Amino acid sequence: KASVMEGDKIEDEMLTESLEESKANFTLEKLKEERKTLPIYPYRDELLKAVRDHQVLIIVGETGSGKTTQIPQYLHEDGYTKVGKIGCTQPRRVAAMSVAARVSQEMGVKLGHEVGYSIRFEDCTSYKTVLKYMTDGMLLREFLGEPDLAGYSVIMVDEAHERTLSTDILFGLVKDVARFRPDLKLLISSATLDAEKFSDYFDSAPIFKIPGRRYPVEIHYTKAPEADYLDAAIVTALQIHVTQPPGDILVFLTGEEEIETAEEILKHRTRGLGTKIAELMICPIYANLPTDMQAKIFEPTPEGARKVVLATNIAETSLTIDGIKYVIDPGFCKMKSYNPHTGMESLLVTPISKASANQRAGRSGRTGPGKCFRLYTAYNYYHDLEDNTVPEIQRTNLVNVVLTLKSLGIHDLLNFDFMDPPPSEALLKALELLYALGALNKLGELTKVGRRMAEFPLDPMLSKMIVASDKYKCSEEIITIAAMLSIGNSIFYRPKDKQVHADTARMRFHEGNVGDHIALLKVYNDWKACDYGTMWCYENYVQVRSMRRARDIRDQLEGLLERVEIEPTSSLNDLEAIKKAITAGSLRMPSFCSLFLSFDELKDATSVNCLPDYLLTFAFATPASGFFPHSARLQKNASYGTVKHPQTVYLHPSSGLAQVEPLPRWVIYHELVLTTKEYMRQVTELKSEWLVEIAPHYYELKAVEDSGTKKVPKGKGHSAAT
Ligand code: ADP
Ligand code: MG
Repeated sequence: KASVMEGDKIEDEMLTESLEESKANFTLEKLKEERKTLPIYPYRDELLKAVRDHQVLIIVGETGSGKTTQIPQYLHEDGYTKVGKIGCTQPRRVAAMSVAARVSQEMGVKLGHEVGYSIRFEDCTSYKTVLKYMTDGMLLREFLGEPDLAGYSVIMVDEAHERTLSTDILFGLVKDVARFRPDLKLLISSATLDAEKFSDYFDSAPIFKIPGRRYPVEIHYTKAPEADYLDAAIVTALQIHVTQPPGDILVFLTGEEEIETAEEILKHRTRGLGTKIAELMICPIYANLPTDMQAKIFEPTPEGARKVVLATNIAETSLTIDGIKYVIDPGFCKMKSYNPHTGMESLLVTPISKASANQRAGRSGRTGPGKCFRLYTAYNYYHDLEDNTVPEIQRTNLVNVVLTLKSLGIHDLLNFDFMDPPPSEALLKALELLYALGALNKLGELTKVGRRMAEFPLDPMLSKMIVASDKYKCSEEIITIAAMLSIGNSIFYRPKDKQVHADTARMRFHEGNVGDHIALLKVYNDWKACDYGTMWCYENYVQVRSMRRARDIRDQLEGLLERVEIEPTSSLNDLEAIKKAITAGSLRMPSFCSLFLSFDELKDATSVNCLPDYLLTFAFATPASGFFPHSARLQKNASYGTVKHPQTVYLHPSSGLAQVEPLPRWVIYHELVLTTKEYMRQVTELKSEWLVEIAPHYYELKAVEDSGTKKVPKGKGHSAAT
């Protein structure tokens, strides 16, 4: 009898299996049909011919026409993957992941096999992978290991109009590779029509246009400027929901926090609408959203309901969400800006450009006529918005890029083939910082420290801290701290109704006023001691998602330690050693330019042949201009002054040291953020005598003595100081 039962069970299983299989086949067939409906499909053969005929091709097509998902598949079907991989770069992590997932579905393969993606700290590819979606930053890193991109037969630089820093650098590098690898195909694709500029840059490469489908979009402006765009956006969304015919809504917001706030308010307000009003599904989308929740925005809206997608700029061109009929555009985005004088980088909410506004509006007219509600006046649009967004390369800190280019052996940075060159001042600043960190020598060549630093996909200060941990025998702790700092501000969870509990839990890690860096280390080590448990996270108001990410990052940093031959060593009982390594990462050595004896030496260092005169004047006249190290000294009223270049800053309220009495006299910090004031975030107390030990040149002994410490080791700092 038993055997009969067994037999039944097996048959049952087989039945389920074949059912699943036919279901999968059905989906695959459906997707195949869908592919044929995309605007790019009729141009498939023409496109393949153009690729065959030309080495470099500029491709232009509306968002949603199928560039990202289809072109790599077409090339795969045409045999390009027999000789190498097809790499497709994306400016955003979420886009790389989501598009790879979609393409693997369309091809009916498992994600990570034939189709994969690679983003910082996450490699979802295998030896089988032939279609590789990746962030532009990752392809830049691949150049370090494979400067001729030998593994690739095609490189598609996608979303080229975004002009991210990495994309701009890639332009120069791939253009160069294409010259000595005639077999490499290069596709530059963009959603905007200013393709001429790309074509000019790539030696008049032909432009392939994919005519899109675009339905008319009705633009509505507000009569007067809005005082609170977030509130206006929420009210508008609800009005559309209550008064307008079916169709999903897309709202552009500036970041994760804003999106979460909007989600909360919307949930609250829809509860009061009663049962007569259709259901409103709220779907947030931003870079750090967990993958399973990202999938929600692509799911079709159930009959009778309406979807409202709350998105960052990612939905402007990177991701296509079907079914959008209404767009709400408050007119802002978060943008990095950089002040080369002070070396300060800040993320600020900034008005978008006209080009962005038009892209946003276009999202509503993909499948039928749409409406776009601009939460600013028509006058604002025509008179206040810039035509185009300034490329990132012209408004960012270039340290990482310069380190990468130097490790690629590109010495002559001022003559690098930039599409739009960065300000020379910013380049010089980056060289100066790298010199100060010991990554470059006086001739501007990469040092051993610099070579090691370049291996880590981190902010140079964090890389420097890791390299320095070798000396202080605490690499285990330092990579934990680096991983935790890389997560940003999402470690602690502070629900509105339990703020007191959350703060108490957080302050436990600060016992002994160890400083924020060590507190982060304690958080990680406690979690690890509890077997990386989820319960532990709940009890301590720590975000489990962030911790898992920190763990992944730490694992990778551990692997990289081996690559640069740094022994895993631990000094858990010697917090001072750990703090010294942190300090070594935060400190910058004497100003680059002040050390140069002559113009010739500076010329050698930067390989500049035509450095403008005014720059030289700048370089020599103000050797330490705005070049402050990440350390600060207590002044009055809880304010701090940065050491070398006086600037007043404050402890961020979230710092464990903010409550300490008396406040530490000297601190080092991970970053400065500008909100209502200039705040230092992630702060650790520093013993002033370390400055003299770690960076004798930089700190005039007198300044340190002024702090009131009498323990300054005499003589240590003098020799190199002058
Ligand atoms: P483009 O790159 O030209 O903007 P894509 O290739 O990204 O266009 O998208 C083409 C179409 O593929 C979209 O209109 C959408 O229907 C579908 N699509 C893309 N990504 C996804 C996804 N992750 N989930 C579901 N559908 C998707
Ligand atoms: Mg695309």
